[in-house]
Amino acid sequence: MPFIDINTWKTAFPLLEEITRLKPVTWLNPSRDETEHNPVLPVSRQDLQDAEKLWERFASYLAQSFPETVPSSGIIESPLKAIPYMQEMCNKQLGLTLPGKLLLKCDNELPIAGSIKARGGIFEVLHYAEQLALQSGLLKPEESYTVLKEERFKKLFSSYTIGVGSTGNLGLSIGLISAKLGFNVSVYMSAEAKKWKKDLLRSIGATVLEFSGDFSEAITAGRTATLANPKGYFVDDENSKLLFLGYSVAAIRLKNQLDALHIRIDEKHPLFVYSPCGVGGSPGGIAFGLRQIFGKDVHCFFAEPTHSPSVLIGLLTGKMNKVSVHDFGIDNITEADGLAVGRPSAFASGISKLLISGIYSLEDAELFRLLYMLGKTENIFLEPSATAGLKGPYQIAKSDYYSKHSINPAQITHIAWATGGALVPKDEMAAFYKKGEQLFTKQH
Ligand SMILES: *Cc1c(COP(=O)(O)O)cnc(C)c1O
Repeated sequence: MPFIDINTWKTAFPLLEEITRLKPVTWLNPSRDETEHNPVLPVSRQDLQDAEKLWERFASYLAQSFPETVPSSGIIESPLKAIPYMQEMCNKQLGLTLPGKLLLKCDNELPIAGSIKARGGIFEVLHYAEQLALQSGLLKPEESYTVLKEERFKKLFSSYTIGVGSTGNLGLSIGLISAKLGFNVSVYMSAEAKKWKKDLLRSIGATVLEFSGDFSEAITAGRTATLANPKGYFVDDENSKLLFLGYSVAAIRLKNQLDALHIRIDEKHPLFVYSPCGVGGSPGGIAFGLRQIFGKDVHCFFAEPTHSPSVLIGLLTGKMNKVSVHDFGIDNITEADGLAVGRPSAFASGISKLLISGIYSLEDAELFRLLYMLGKTENIFLEPSATAGLKGPYQIAKSDYYSKHSINPAQITHIAWATGGALVPKDEMAAFYKKGEQLFTKQH
């Protein structure tokens, strides 16, 4: 690791002054591709379509193995909802009447894992299981995948071990699908990961290993241990193309949902999407998918906690995964579980750099206030990380982004991506809500 002279960086990028002082900031990406055609990337439109097909091949298996996916015929998807009461309350609280319409993409309701990790994590494990099953000759290419429930496949998978480093939600999604298929699964977690997540994983037969220190250390330890086993497969949150592609399929589904609501997206009617960001895989994958479909008419923003602005610093400095927030004296301590990440995904950030519109940061207190406000107005309960996108429309409206892009704010469709919440135990959620209410009341 080269020595990083913070003052030199601050001179080159004045916004770092605010970032290192833990102030909420808005950064607009000067490298966003503004041409009609998307730039050449390490993933293609074909990859996106292939990823969608993999989900379809597994739909019959998922419907049989997870009853909650029966209503959607084994397709793991979440609703898109208007949240007018929340919009009204935000208008009052955040000091601006938002023109355009605010929608919530409810990945907190995703079946099986209750978070956005159901997209990437489950996808990568299914991809691996398919490879093994086909190579073994037990599965024939045109056969219905419902056979994967049979004992002979469980026996095959039980000789392999899947490892993953996780602050929680990724571990849950990988653990739940791997255990169902019959794999051995080891989840490497940071010690401060929530107890209920560790308990749930252990209850389904996963091995949970705890590491003091930050998430990157858990990943490093997990990678080393898993790859030492010739029949080990490591799901690498810091560099995974498959996680990325699993997330990207959300864009195809979202397009169908917008069509069903008769919301058209074009140059005059742009789509603004605001996604909570950890390593940048889920928001990056979704941004990639959306840019394939809507081109430059979609404007994607990432949201990070002021204490964990890892992708922000990576993209701003251009150093990507070569720098961590610790190098800039930032502690990476936040209650936003899925976002407590010190270093961005190498794979995802190279792509996001060309596609996204910007990144904003916000304080933990704001996440809890938003959690409370959404619960109160819409009766929707998210985990703290998952609320970060709700601030986006208000934060970006205060920047000069609209004028730079000649956008009429009244024509924008805003989507805040709600990334998790369904699996949070009731008493924990009640405590989050109460904390949000207290912070909200204190502010008034
Ligand atoms: C993982 C996670 C994110 C961020 O996804 P990354 O791929 O790490 O950027 C956001 N919200 C929740 C609830 C998560 O679990």
